[in-house]
Amino acid sequence: MSESSRDGLIGAIEAGGTKFVCAVGRGPGEKLLARVSFPTGDDSASLLDRVAAWLAEQESRHGRLTALGIASFGPVDLDPGSPTWGHITSTPKIAWQYTDLVGGLRGRLRDLPVGFDTDVNGAALGEYAWGAAQGLDDFIYLTIGTGIGGGGMVGGRMMHGLLHPEMGHMVLPRVKGDDFPGVCPFHGACWEGLCTGPAMNARAGAPAETLGADHPVWELETQYIALALANIIYNVSPRRIIIGGSVRKAGHLGEERFFRMVRTKVREVLNGYLGSPVLDEGIDGYIVPPLLGDDAGVCGAIALGQRAL
Ligand code: ZN
Repeated sequence: MSESSRDGLIGAIEAGGTKFVCAVGRGPGEKLLARVSFPTGDDSASLLDRVAAWLAEQESRHGRLTALGIASFGPVDLDPGSPTWGHITSTPKIAWQYTDLVGGLRGRLRDLPVGFDTDVNGAALGEYAWGAAQGLDDFIYLTIGTGIGGGGMVGGRMMHGLLHPEMGHMVLPRVKGDDFPGVCPFHGACWEGLCTGPAMNARAGAPAETLGADHPVWELETQYIALALANIIYNVSPRRIIIGGSVRKAGHLGEERFFRMVRTKVREVLNGYLGSPVLDEGIDGYIVPPLLGDDAGVCGAIALGQRAL
């Protein structure tokens, strides 16, 4: 990254299914000059109007933006050669289907360079630039909240492909005795169907943050997460796994105990097979929360903008 791209002022948009977090800045902490959030709602055109107006107002206060970074819920088209690059595509959120985010914002502002990726790859890039993945060219970032998403880097490149990874829909073996049908509209009991906040709510009959620390749902939740993490470790061999999103805060159980349970169960599932001390006595530094906390996404959008320069 050159000096000039590091100095340029970036307009960042973390486009989520519930809210759009917008910011202007050069990085995390005091390099983040302003931020706001708007409910995503079901009128994409008027939300893009509000986002563009807010960005224009920030330009009058903080100076001219040099690029935009957009980290969006999906599915999205990430193929730069495609006519629908920068679009949200077949999302179940009807009002946002086939919305041209990049073109919509460029049309309302001006023809700025734009970096565009999934919300989870955005957060991964934020953690790579300023957080828990600094210096690591092979890592996975997961978010477990209203959905489950996974992204990250392999060999220093963001994970893209035919589309982009959809790790949340991983097929997992069922824990013995568990017949909860799952909540994924496509697959029922895929990882997302079993382990999101809404899945925990459906399973327990109450929101996860209200459950006691000894509620059996936490055992199942961390067991399924451990199975998914073992699959990721076997398939991708990341040097670190970062778990963001709301579920890891774990209400009355607490983040620390949640991570301890996940790490213990991952070791049990791997059963010593890989022989790496990082996955054994070093596992506390291997499966970690995001260093940027809930700012990973919006900071990642800034990093995407910097990359576009
Ligand atoms: Zn699914």
